[in-house]
Amino acid sequence: MVVLEEPIKEVRTLRNYVNGEWVEPSYSELRDVVNPATMKLCAKVPISTAGDVNAAVEAAVEAFPRWRRTPPLTRSRYFYRLKELMEGSFEEMSRVSVVEHGKIIDEARGETRRGIENVEVATGIPSLMMGYNLEDISSGIDECVVKQPLGVFACIAPFNFPLMVPLWFMPYAVATGNTYVVKPSPWTPMSQTKLFELIDEAGFPPGVINMVHGDAEAVNAILKHPDIKGISFVGSTSIGRDIIYREGAASGKRVQAQCGAKNFLVVMPDAIVDETVSSLMTSFFGSTGQRCLAGANLVIVGEDDSFYRRFLNRVIIGASNIKIGYGLDESTQMGPLQAEVRKKRVLGFIGKGVEEGAKLVRDGREFEVLGGYPKNCFIGPSIFEGVAPDMVVAKEEIFGPVMNVMRTKDLDAAIGMINASEYGNSVAIFTSSGKAARRFQYEVTCGNVGINVGIPAPVAFFPFSGMKDSFFGDLHGQGRDAIEFFTERKVVITRWF
Ligand code: NAD
Repeated sequence: MVVLEEPIKEVRTLRNYVNGEWVEPSYSELRDVVNPATMKLCAKVPISTAGDVNAAVEAAVEAFPRWRRTPPLTRSRYFYRLKELMEGSFEEMSRVSVVEHGKIIDEARGETRRGIENVEVATGIPSLMMGYNLEDISSGIDECVVKQPLGVFACIAPFNFPLMVPLWFMPYAVATGNTYVVKPSPWTPMSQTKLFELIDEAGFPPGVINMVHGDAEAVNAILKHPDIKGISFVGSTSIGRDIIYREGAASGKRVQAQCGAKNFLVVMPDAIVDETVSSLMTSFFGSTGQRCLAGANLVIVGEDDSFYRRFLNRVIIGASNIKIGYGLDESTQMGPLQAEVRKKRVLGFIGKGVEEGAKLVRDGREFEVLGGYPKNCFIGPSIFEGVAPDMVVAKEEIFGPVMNVMRTKDLDAAIGMINASEYGNSVAIFTSSGKAARRFQYEVTCGNVGINVGIPAPVAFFPFSGMKDSFFGDLHGQGRDAIEFFTERKVVITRWF
């Protein structure tokens, strides 16, 4: 067991980054940021007021006219610099994410890599932002479409991918010529703080990218601010749908709200067992189940009891062998939940499943932690068998390492179950049959589909999709969708005399 060096040497009170400077906000409250594996205090985060948000927006408004006139190639060079700085701090950023979130170091490195990839894609903005034209729409008259930035955009981020999620949006928004405000989650504010140290070093002009720490008050100020043209939100469905999408859209802002999930993974009788079991372990228990793409409901298709029993036994053994510990210990395979309150919630769902009559064939409430770290936020993988689609554990997002095993007699019934779910974030099928895979891909009402892939996470040049209660808006984060979200199209018709 080797524990990597911790990246945080002293407990600091974090500051906002406004107009190119680190500023102390006029906060209403200071909250503790705690390492969920060691339970040690790592930082204090200010809960900024509406006035702090207004100061950041003011800086962004002021920076906009000059930034939008900066040629796209020049804008992209700032992102080349940022990418180089991020590569140089790759390991440090990843470790910060482990310390504040609890995920294991390899998961954090994956997050950092995906964050960098979004910056890399945004460096292609001179090509990505091009419009199109046609000569002679009428004799001697040409028409063209140009894409232009709108002004100030903001991102409201969740706790679970504290470095990466704002990078699904900010690089595209800023590279297309907008200016920006990021509000990280108050639970995990240190990864963005580290990123903003690099943004500062990259030398972006003051006011182009700003950060305000905080919670509901800051979000309400963002929603109400007349100078904010659009919001990218990632978080739970209740906040995303009922507050951000409704209020944001009602005040005329562009809104993209990527929300909660309840993901189904389907195993066909012709699935390749070894690869499937290994993919299920990562999907259900990776990131301790705190991923919007995490597996939640496992559907085993077919009436062959012996296949079902053998397969489920392999899954239970796999889950029981997962090593639980501190994410900075490289032999650890699953870290703690991000906070005690999240563990309490997961325990509540396990109790509910038992009460509803599901059979707890693996009880995650009993577990050992490598290295003897305090158990406050840790929990083991749980597996329920005999789960019915109308049980609370099968319907609601648990956001923890809990697998609900269900059975259907055929693929039709599995697809029917998926399509009846309120959520539509991610699904996967494991099969050797091209025909079954094609039907599944064609018929499921879900945004991200995996075929023999348990976590179908779109790469940076594809949109991060979502349907039904998992997404509100028209255009998603990343890729071409992001370019469209952050620009408006102007049509120009020219008559040549
Ligand atoms: P959350 O909804 O609690 O918080 C998200 C953001 O909303 C935070 O910045 C928070 O400060 C703010 N917020 C919280 N309460 C608020 C209130 N009352 N008014 C205004 N703003 C408020 O979500 P979370 O727990 O941080 O993140 C986990 C959720 O995010 C899960 O549901 C997960 O599925 C979802 N998620 C979705 C995706 C996706 O792409 N669909 C990706 C990652 C996470």
